[in-house]
Amino acid sequence: MAKVENWLTRREFLKKSAVFGAGLLVCSVQVGHARQCKRGRGRDRALPIHSDNPAIQLHQNRCRNCGDCQKFCSNTMGVFGRNVPSGEEACIYCGQCTLLCPRAISEQYHYSAVAKAIADPGKIVIASTAPAIRVALGEMYKLAPGTNVEGKIVASLKKLGVNYVLDTTFSADLTVMEEAAELLLRLENNDAKNPLPMFTSCCPAWVRFVKLFYPNLLPNFSTAKSPMLMQGTLTKTYFAQKIGIDPAKIVNIALMPCTAKKAEILLPKTRDVDFVLTSRELAYLLNDSKINFLQMQDAPYDSLMGTGSGSGMIFGNSGGVMEAALRTAYKLLNDKNPPDNFFNLSPIRGFDSVRQASVDLGKRTLNVAVVHGVNNARPLLESIQNGTQKLDFVEVMACSGGCIGGGGQPVSKMNAKKLKQLRQQALYQRDASQAIRLSCDNPEIQTIYNEFLGKPLSKKAKELLHVSSH
Ligand code: SF4
Repeated sequence: MAKVENWLTRREFLKKSAVFGAGLLVCSVQVGHARQCKRGRGRDRALPIHSDNPAIQLHQNRCRNCGDCQKFCSNTMGVFGRNVPSGEEACIYCGQCTLLCPRAISEQYHYSAVAKAIADPGKIVIASTAPAIRVALGEMYKLAPGTNVEGKIVASLKKLGVNYVLDTTFSADLTVMEEAAELLLRLENNDAKNPLPMFTSCCPAWVRFVKLFYPNLLPNFSTAKSPMLMQGTLTKTYFAQKIGIDPAKIVNIALMPCTAKKAEILLPKTRDVDFVLTSRELAYLLNDSKINFLQMQDAPYDSLMGTGSGSGMIFGNSGGVMEAALRTAYKLLNDKNPPDNFFNLSPIRGFDSVRQASVDLGKRTLNVAVVHGVNNARPLLESIQNGTQKLDFVEVMACSGGCIGGGGQPVSKMNAKKLKQLRQQALYQRDASQAIRLSCDNPEIQTIYNEFLGKPLSKKAKELLHVSSH
């Protein structure tokens, strides 16, 4: 494995990619930003990223001390410089600073370790891909934003030596099943332990934001694990049993648009995912192995946990988790498919930082809110705290646009809003073109409940797919 974790290697990556006719968009932005930075003494204007930060790292020798990262984290993300009562590091691990200054701040790299695991004949390597990476990874190879490269990702991973390639959209569907059931239960019996509004729990940076700044609202989180963690747990239990492999030999790799997921896998009782690779790291890994991504012929996912519905696919978009959960909640509540407008819930789609709507679930109307960009959630959280807002269900994604704008995604010169719109549209189009658009109709989801989990919120489902507290 080549020496990696440094800026020079990334530049080498660009050169090597050019050999494949696949230059990168990242470099010009990185270099451009670096040139604009003002030189200063010391690093007092850089974000004070702790050396044991599990998600991101500051490369001191490349920092020009311009202060842009501090300003961005403080003004846009609403994190740096705020009082953290617990005394923990004021970082939510979202990695948006790695997009702002990829020259001096990067993810904590896992890809060397992944290469070692793949080379180890005693290991069974299973990789699972998040919805959002398939519409962004192509940008690392000069494809247009939104180009769906999921078949090439599967083929490349197989060529690399990964034994099974699964799709985390499967577990996004499972999250919908568990979260929708939990929401309906909370609507019936909400109390101090299970308060409303229920918060979505799939974004670890959002969970950490609440933990750092609004800890009294932690009981509002759904207890459902994130799709990545559900996928990790089930590959080492259900999948291992079905395929007949020893779970102790499994190395689980999650391919994510996200740096915060690197911290999420270290949380107590959630240790089933071994490594998280960002979209960018996947390109570095493929490049180090001289895999010509653009030449790969599309390959299908492996079965059992390799199929997602349209609902699972839109998890990558801000508003997508909410829309997916409401579709299934409607079906669970009314025992019939939701009306057409649930398949394009326009009041909660789009780019307004806060979208609120009343959604008629037949037997009940829900007041819901969707927020992207975690700092935009502060007024909402304060109104929930002081009782001036009565909401039932709240989705927050820390990154602007949701996971399609995640801190592990490729850096681009394109206008940020335009870029995210293209990635979002690609996921919505994918949903619209699917024959199965409800999580509960996914045949692999039906099989896992029939053969393994029982039903949503069963004893086994709670044991494997939920955490008692965030
Ligand atoms: Fe990660 Fe998505 Fe949350 Fe961003 S919005 S921190 S990419 S989970």
